[in-house]
Amino acid sequence: MATLQYTPVDEIEKIRSRLQDGFKTGKTKSLEYRKYQLLQLAYLLKENRTRFIEAMRIDLGRPVFESEFYEIASCLGDIAVTVKSLDKWAKPEGVPFDINWFAMKPKTHKVPKGTILIITPFNYPVWLVMQPLMSAIAAGNAVCLKASENAPATTGLWTELMPKYLDPDLVQMVNGGVTETTRNTEAELSAVSYTGSGTVGRIVAMAAAKHLTPVTLELGGKSPVVVDASCDIEMTAKRVLLGRFVNAGQTCVSPDYILVVKSVQDKFLAALERTYKSFVNGDGPTPPGSFSHIITDRHAGEVILGGETDASQKHISLSVITDVPKDDSLMSEEIFGPVMPILPVEDLDEAIHYINSGDRPLAIYVFADDKKIKDKVRNETMSGTMAFNECMIQVGVNGLPFGGTGASGYGYHTGEHGYKSFRICEQRSTTLSCAVDKILWWRYPPYTDANIRAMKRVMRDGLPAKPKGPPSLSSGKSVSWGKWVMVLVAIAAAAAVKKNRS
Ligand code: NAD
Repeated sequence: MATLQYTPVDEIEKIRSRLQDGFKTGKTKSLEYRKYQLLQLAYLLKENRTRFIEAMRIDLGRPVFESEFYEIASCLGDIAVTVKSLDKWAKPEGVPFDINWFAMKPKTHKVPKGTILIITPFNYPVWLVMQPLMSAIAAGNAVCLKASENAPATTGLWTELMPKYLDPDLVQMVNGGVTETTRNTEAELSAVSYTGSGTVGRIVAMAAAKHLTPVTLELGGKSPVVVDASCDIEMTAKRVLLGRFVNAGQTCVSPDYILVVKSVQDKFLAALERTYKSFVNGDGPTPPGSFSHIITDRHAGEVILGGETDASQKHISLSVITDVPKDDSLMSEEIFGPVMPILPVEDLDEAIHYINSGDRPLAIYVFADDKKIKDKVRNETMSGTMAFNECMIQVGVNGLPFGGTGASGYGYHTGEHGYKSFRICEQRSTTLSCAVDKILWWRYPPYTDANIRAMKRVMRDGLPAKPKGPPSLSSGKSVSWGKWVMVLVAIAAAAAVKKNRS
């Protein structure tokens, strides 16, 4: 295990003031400077690729393929998109045309919040640092980064490289555990972006509330998989197992447990077994270098069932546990390891009821071919993200927001959503005054009847007519049938009129 040098507690305040001063210089107002910083960040990663891969191997036993694919390649692609899109994202936005206000040229400007604290977890020690960091830089903020002490080799490498590539007046790291981080969360900051467990997320949100600091919380939880009888069983087994295999199940959107409809449970288990053997080359143990280990003893200790374990190597093999009762301890909190409980259900309603009885998940996965089944689960449940016949892929799709709801957090990572909805970018409205007093003369006292009449003429509410009753809740299909009938009647009437005239 690598060791990480913690930042001395009395340094932390100095680091924060340096960043606050750096932000005040106004350097980040220049989009060109932000793009330069973003490219520096990209080249920090690209030029030190092999060192990052080695650091993740030390921290997580991470296979090279997973570090390349899930961390490095996707980050470099995301930075490229951010640099290319920044001018467009940063453009001030107008408002819909309104005769009353257009002359004032109302606009929304996207301005940075200031100095942001970013706190990140251990499980994707590159991707989860890069995503909020690139959004924060793109939006023109200064950043104090607290990466995980539980990925010491990777966090140490970030600490070494940051000052060589990025402007130290604008990006600084603070390393440590609870004491060091608490020093930061209790300070007055412009915003906090926290990714990690719900327990710590609540502590961070409470500390930030003291100063009314806005917070983004990217949390975890139990993401269920629903396996319906209509699905392609082989493909389902392959994709679900891969979801649990990657990073030894230590992914916030990893499929946490499976609700399988009883009628296909046996077929599904047989397919899982076949897939498992194909992943590990037959009956033998997982080949070295293709499966991560659990990161801390705390996480190894939480896994209580199944599979071969080697505590000294923090290794737990990918394990599937069937017929798990709903009140089993495995079902009480996020598993965050390569253990997959399977719960048989009679039907889809039972699966939906079970999902809805818990916290809102970060992701729900539905394996079904029947569109009605997919629609039913989407309409009757709630989660941050959802994928059909896939696991985890939704996080990588360019343009989609990634974030939780309820206990899985709030705010978004990724792309323009990270830049904008992450709330690292403030929306500041402006209007230009112009010769509007010819139109708005009535706003000045004394308030005579003429003022009130003139005001009412301008401030028309524009509401449509009051509805005669609630709308019909019948399906869209019958409404469009009704429309078609009307069209046909109109055509027939027109034809009849024409015939009469000729
Ligand atoms: P964690 O909550 O233990 O730690 C995350 C960070 O919080 C670390 O940097 C840690 O030093 C810091 N921290 C710990 N105690 C703190 C305190 N009292 N005050 C302030 N900061 C403190 O999480 P972890 O074990 O590193 O990561 C696993 C969790 O993160 C899982 O629950 C997983 O689902 C979640 N996660 C969520 C996402 C997402 O995008 N939604 C992504 C990855 C991981």
